[in-house]
Amino acid sequence: MSAASAGSGTGPVAVFGGTFDPVHFGHLRVAWEVAERLDCEVRLMPSGRPPHRGQPGAPPAQRAAMLELALAGQDRLRLDRRELERSGASYSVDTLGALREELGPERPLVFVLGADAFRALPSWHRWRELTGLAHLLAMTRPRQRLDRLDPDLHAAMAGRWTGRTELLQREPAGRVMVLRVTPLAVSSSQIRAALAAGRSPRYLLPQAVLDHIQAAGLYRA
Ligand code: ATP
Repeated sequence: MSAASAGSGTGPVAVFGGTFDPVHFGHLRVAWEVAERLDCEVRLMPSGRPPHRGQPGAPPAQRAAMLELALAGQDRLRLDRRELERSGASYSVDTLGALREELGPERPLVFVLGADAFRALPSWHRWRELTGLAHLLAMTRPRQRLDRLDPDLHAAMAGRWTGRTELLQREPAGRVMVLRVTPLAVSSSQIRAALAAGRSPRYLLPQAVLDHIQAAGLYRA
């Protein structure tokens, strides 16, 4: 499937950002769990030049091509290229603002982020505006608690917490929910390290993605 068109449909849209360098079963499984739990479309949104980390190992067009291969054969998870197409750093507040304009004021928009990213929100550009644009869905691992938050974050989230998915499906923005997921023990860095060492990351990512990596000669030492 090509890039998602923001205007289609009426249900919630969830945004799952990452470097996807390369995409693997950990990303796909967790995105699928969000799609099922919220009964929504999930946009996998690869970052162009991530503001918080170094340059990715594969160029944007390659990371998008690998995502397209990974997403073939289903239509709940979609590729959204908007951050790749923008030059310069991408800030979540700008991306969600653009999506909000396209979706209109009523359609639920959910920003999915890992627990560590959630905790670090006060260091993000214009982070206080995020809840005006979208719901926040913080993913935690089993036995991981989201307590002892930074006091500013704690205060900004007061009154927003909910465990009711229907509120995220009905209201456009402003709620915060914790989603417990069981992450698969796989990471992009582990896959890049295996490839650079001449080992195969087979069974950690879709075979079509691995075939593409090998054909294009990506992540070689
Ligand atoms: P790297 O190893 O290069 O840091 P990564 O595998 O963590 O990469 P990212 O593209 O940085 O992948 O992650 C995008 C999002 O996917 C983040 O929210 C991250 O928490 C989540 N994620 C990454 N790996 C997993 C996994 N195995 N299970 C669940 N979520 C994951």
